[in-house]
Amino acid sequence: MPKFQAPRGTRDLLPADMSVFRRLEDNARRLSALYGYQPIETPIFEDSAIFERGVGEVTDIVEKELFRVRTPGGDKDPWALRPEPTAGICRAYVEHGMQTLPQPVKVTMWGPMFRYDRPQAGRFRQFWQWDIEAIGDAGPAIDAEIIELAYRFLHEAGVANVELHLNTIGDSNCRPRYIAALVDYMARFATELPELERHRLAKNPLRLLDSKNERTVALLADSPRMADYLCDACRAHWDGLLSHLAALGIPVTPAPLLVRGIDYYTRTAFEFYEHGEHGQQSALGGGGRYDGLIELFGARPTPGVGFGLGVDRIAAVAARQAGSTPHPVAVVVGADPGATELRLKLASDLRAVGIAASADLAPRKLSRQLEGAARDGAHFAIVVGDELDAGQVQLRDLEAGTQRVANVADLARELERAHASHRHGDDGKA
Ligand code: AMP
Repeated sequence: MPKFQAPRGTRDLLPADMSVFRRLEDNARRLSALYGYQPIETPIFEDSAIFERGVGEVTDIVEKELFRVRTPGGDKDPWALRPEPTAGICRAYVEHGMQTLPQPVKVTMWGPMFRYDRPQAGRFRQFWQWDIEAIGDAGPAIDAEIIELAYRFLHEAGVANVELHLNTIGDSNCRPRYIAALVDYMARFATELPELERHRLAKNPLRLLDSKNERTVALLADSPRMADYLCDACRAHWDGLLSHLAALGIPVTPAPLLVRGIDYYTRTAFEFYEHGEHGQQSALGGGGRYDGLIELFGARPTPGVGFGLGVDRIAAVAARQAGSTPHPVAVVVGADPGATELRLKLASDLRAVGIAASADLAPRKLSRQLEGAARDGAHFAIVVGDELDAGQVQLRDLEAGTQRVANVADLARELERAHASHRHGDDGKA
């Protein structure tokens, strides 16, 4: 038999993983609603041109990492799996005439993304993002709003000391002057640069800024800085963003080399890290402004800003926190090993009124059933025995080690009350 495995760079999210993912997703939903961002869902695959335009042709994502979809009819690879959510959302915004809605249109999405990247720790070929987009507001206050939203989410996920790395990359007005200065500076050292960096210098010089090549990085230390080339409008936007973030109490780590190396990205660019974790695979998310993107999809120029947070990486941080696996409130056990119908029915009745109950359905001795209930982390064991004829059961508090008789008719109410007061004293981690 061949050995079947999940494809390289993908993974199964097992129940323990899912409980962390769900906790993050629930919080993303709660915060999205709190900040007024509505859910949107776009297809997992799109016309490849959406990404070629919407992400940019001279990017790793499109040049090397796009999962192109082959179709049975032999169409020429017309589709690709989405590598990121913004392009699809902007396509939907234009397709459905959302410019006629009150602006900004504030939307959120949660789902898997696909990049044919070299798999390693923290880098997968299928990974999840939580995405926020605000389309139709030129900012800078809205930039600060979404940054604060991401910041709060990361903080609540348990990321210690969230670091916001922030930069401005100007706009089509002022960036060309900066790029010319950068090219001028780097061209002097062109012979020292490896092939890849020379390709970037010629095709998309801004991408030199996130080079991993040692020589390039050293040269960049003295390179021209965007901040010295901003036009008045970009300068005003940058100053406005900094003052809005200060008003919200969000500390900023300036990151002059942080770029999104594509023309329609404008002004704001940011990334989040856990303090002290700045390696290549450690960005927990990023985002920025894309004032030139919507018009590439055939609509009138419309500003936009958004972020994508990497759920897999955030989950790895969040998993370090305790209390992620849900436990049953009660397990129904019984003195008669064979009376599984009684146990199943009682658990079913409790679940019908919303209590997380399970039944021990193995025909085994009561002592074994009780051990199992304790191992599952249940708060209570409900012991079904002879008293059932009188409408009663034994209610054993497995944590307190106490036991008393309870009426079946009152069971749900009693369990709820006891479990709720227990949870309060327990930091809500049960
Ligand atoms: P990007 O659109 O590349 O800025 O990605 C936004 C965030 O998604 C990154 O900061 C990562 O946290 C996460 N991310 C991007 N690519 C991957 C990947 N291949 N595997 C896991 N997470 C990723």
